Amino acid sequence: MAYDPNNIFAKIIREEAPCFKVYEDDMTLAFMDVMPQADGHTLVIPKFPAEDLLDLDPDYVAAQAMTVKKLAPAVKKAFDAPGIMIAQLNGSAAGQTVFHFHTHIIPRRSGLEMKLHAREMADFDMLKEHAERIKAALA
Ligand code: AMP
Repeated sequence: MAYDPNNIFAKIIREEAPCFKVYEDDMTLAFMDVMPQADGHTLVIPKFPAEDLLDLDPDYVAAQAMTVKKLAPAVKKAFDAPGIMIAQLNGSAAGQTVFHFHTHIIPRRSGLEMKLHAREMADFDMLKEHAERIKAALA
């Protein structure tokens, strides 16, 4: 499948669609997942037109990993999470629903099941507050 430059994450990078941003640098962007599987569910994307890991330029693989490494402790701190799940899906058969490469950062705690994937839209005021919490933890 060819990369679709009008996918929602490409629009977010071009600022044609909104997001609750938590971090940005020259090569990556991080924002809240609007259908979080747990409070604090954050997405990191490269500013590179790749559907999945197989298409992603190696320099962006490295930049993406660095941003995940920077964000994961901030998400953990902001949500006082004992565990952090890092997930990345490649292809619809693997459950991928948005075809611009992205990494999920999801706070986890034992006994608390994750919500279903990409199902329920969260309250926007809550997502804004969660983004602020992560930004404060990054500072
Ligand atoms: P995946 O299924 O791994 O491709 O994950 C795509 C993720 O993007 C899901 O967790 C969705 O909830 C999330 N998502 C879809 N649209 C948006 C959006 N406009 N802003 C933020 N997150 C989104």
